[in-house]
Amino acid sequence: MGAGLEVPVRGGRLVPYANLDYAASAPCLEPVSATVAAALPAYSSVHRGAGYASQLTTARYEQARHTVRAFVGARPGDALIFVRNTTDAMNLLARSLPEGTTVVVFDTEHHATLLPWPDAVRLAPPAFPGEAIRAADEALTAIEGPALLVVTAASNVTGELWPIAGLAHVAHRHGARIAVDAAQYVPHRGLNLAALDLDYVAFSGHKLYAPFGAGVLVGRPDWLADADPYLRGGGAVRSVGETVDWSDDPEARHEAGTPNVLGAIALAAACDALTTTGWIALVREEERLLARLRAGLATIPGVRELSLWGPDHPRVGIVSFAVEGRTAREVAETLSAEHGIGVRDGKFCAHPFVRHLLGGDDAGCADGTVSAVRASIGIGTTEEHVDRLVDALREIAAA
Ligand code: PLP
Repeated sequence: MGAGLEVPVRGGRLVPYANLDYAASAPCLEPVSATVAAALPAYSSVHRGAGYASQLTTARYEQARHTVRAFVGARPGDALIFVRNTTDAMNLLARSLPEGTTVVVFDTEHHATLLPWPDAVRLAPPAFPGEAIRAADEALTAIEGPALLVVTAASNVTGELWPIAGLAHVAHRHGARIAVDAAQYVPHRGLNLAALDLDYVAFSGHKLYAPFGAGVLVGRPDWLADADPYLRGGGAVRSVGETVDWSDDPEARHEAGTPNVLGAIALAAACDALTTTGWIALVREEERLLARLRAGLATIPGVRELSLWGPDHPRVGIVSFAVEGRTAREVAETLSAEHGIGVRDGKFCAHPFVRHLLGGDDAGCADGTVSAVRASIGIGTTEEHVDRLVDALREIAAA
């Protein structure tokens, strides 16, 4: 979205929309729309129909599963369950934990990854990446019985990359498992679950240039095969009589009801499109634009970029910042109303982390809320978008 879209700004003038809110939801890629359009004329229910459209749709749905498995480098035998989004994936995993599992999670997480385990051991934001590994090590040492470390691969607030390979190593040294929230990672970087030795990965289609409503949980099948079905209904059972014989295939077991077939097909088409373009080209372009954006922000007096591990730590195309003397809402609204630029403001569903970064509680802030502005980029972002944001912020900061 954004290419060709014109939006009204104050005074009624129309300007081209500058979408700098990819971290919320990324615009659908053209090959994704084309794949969905091609699937629309002949779709039917999957898995249970003998008709041609049903067989075709089942083949497309299972091919989508296959494509997404390859996209994340799943191991043979890993389950890939289509869910609604990352939040859904994390909640499914939370309901699939063996009895007595202790979850360890950093306070820097998005709420989708922070909240599904209310009894989790919560770790303070680490001061540097090695400290994250040390803190996880210490927490896992103290745990007896099964444990799961849950961590993001790329922060939705700062874009910073987390040391997931090192954390996986520590988790496994303790006999624990690791689940990775890759919602902000897979739109920007290739991920190989097997090579990184991750147990579970979750992400959402709508941040990966596909429409809303489909996401995945992929990983070790055993906990999922033993868990209660996430939804109870058709497709999750082998037979129903006096008793119910639930499927022990984790994919069938947790995908009761008619699935979001078009969502899965779209998600897979997005994976294909990114793979076809290639990560080298994608990362090179993103880093060029991100460097331009950050360099521009650094020249504006009163604009402070947020980071946990310092300006040089690698990150994906996400930058959050505060503007001195202006509330984040004021800045975001002015960017939209006067300049036709879309960004996000607030705490980005990561309240503890944003409070930590801004060093405050809500009551101490000018407008009663700790909040920041977030600009995020991706495929379709141009230098012109970046420059418009920097120029507009310079004007806002100086006003
Ligand atoms: N995890 C991260 C890092 C995110 O940025 C988000 C969404 O912003 C989520 C999880 C939740 O994604 P969804 O709303 O698609 O479930």
